[in-house]
Amino acid sequence: MTDASTRSPVTAEPLSDAERKLTMSIMARWSKLLGDLTELVNIPTGRAPHPIAVEGLNRTRTLLRARLEKLGANCDFIPGDPRPAWLDRVGQVSSLPDRVGQVSNLPSTPPPTLVARRLATKSDRRPILLSGHLDTVHDPSPDAPFRTLTVSADKTKATGPGVVDMKGGLVIALHALEALADAGIDVPFGFILNSDEETGSFSSDRALRAEASRTDRAGARLYSCALALEPANGTNGLVTSRGGSGQCMIEAKGRAAHVGRDFASGRSATDLLARMIIAGHKLTNPITGDIVNFSTLFCDQPPNQVADHAAAWGNLRYHTQESGEKLAAAIQRLCAERTTPADGRTITAAVSLIRPAKPGTPETLALAYQVQAIAAVLGQPVTFSTTSGVCDGNNLQAGLDGWHRSPTGAGSHGSPTRDSQPPAPLPPFPVLDTLGVRGGGLHTPQEWIDLASLVERCQLLAILLSRLSNAGAVGC
Ligand SMILES: [Zn+2]
Repeated sequence: MTDASTRSPVTAEPLSDAERKLTMSIMARWSKLLGDLTELVNIPTGRAPHPIAVEGLNRTRTLLRARLEKLGANCDFIPGDPRPAWLDRVGQVSSLPDRVGQVSNLPSTPPPTLVARRLATKSDRRPILLSGHLDTVHDPSPDAPFRTLTVSADKTKATGPGVVDMKGGLVIALHALEALADAGIDVPFGFILNSDEETGSFSSDRALRAEASRTDRAGARLYSCALALEPANGTNGLVTSRGGSGQCMIEAKGRAAHVGRDFASGRSATDLLARMIIAGHKLTNPITGDIVNFSTLFCDQPPNQVADHAAAWGNLRYHTQESGEKLAAAIQRLCAERTTPADGRTITAAVSLIRPAKPGTPETLALAYQVQAIAAVLGQPVTFSTTSGVCDGNNLQAGLDGWHRSPTGAGSHGSPTRDSQPPAPLPPFPVLDTLGVRGGGLHTPQEWIDLASLVERCQLLAILLSRLSNAGAVGC
């Protein structure tokens, strides 16, 4: 939904001579931008733990680390947390190890998150946090049909796996930082690069939130704002608020019986599961955008047996964190109501609200208006929108407030849990997450980039970084 009525209450200064030079220097980087994009897109990074993807992620991390270190950044690798076992269809259903038919015995070491920081500078400018993901959704197999960057005959577009989501974003961020450094413009930054955004950021969630909530020596929030490099929403569109997203599994257990000889003594797990799915879907409220959707079903038992075990996986969407917690509680309650162990029926749920809702806070809206005003100076009209789609911007804006993992690393059901001593809440900070390139066909074999956006969006990002950094903090 696009709010066409949004007109920036902010006017931006015209470009200074130094800024004009900066934009020209970015234009001169055109072939390097395309060269870097080609290199990154041609390294497959989709569907880890596929070994080709793991190798590709490692290569990409090494490449980006070298470029960021050249800019003077110190790099840390934050070890990844394991995903809750129930999320994946492989071997997680307690009584049915490896019977799901999509068995993978590939080792799945959680990927690390790279954090590059160049914080210590001559000035007391507050750093800006950039955020990007290295993974894609695409098949990395050598015989997969969509593996490389292809430029159209008229050179206006290119297709390739991850070309817009978000390898183009990574490339423009690198070049914006390099162009600023070449121009002698001081922009302290942090740059967090994770490798599992497309599968929910379960392994990098803690690192994302911790970096966003990092404090300086005085205990104040270190970063003035966070900018994630997801593709623009439509033409240069900025998403100013997002719903939240969670994952859910329900598992039913009954009593097996021969359908013909002994049906009455059976207790069907599939029947129980199906009724629970219907009850769960009834929690959906299309007006508020609170949604329960079960899609993936599992039962491997033959039709002439009353099934004693079945499971389903679903996705939750919610407009506020409270509404997400209400959905999770309602699913647990519905399961409890349907559980009659004396009669041989149990149904349980595991829920994780991994992506908190990202409301359009005054801080984030103020930053959006600043971006819109600067983009107008560059001749790039920016619209605002809101979506139920989620990304790492959700986790960055929430930060560590109200969040801590249980000692097992995943809470009782993979849900964030409150620690006995949560950190003191920090003042809210602005987070915008659609500052990457323009294109479309995300998550499809038609994924494409508008090649002009490599230069245009890099110019916008560079000017934005320079001005935000100069201001010291957004809105001040
Ligand atoms: Zn993305």
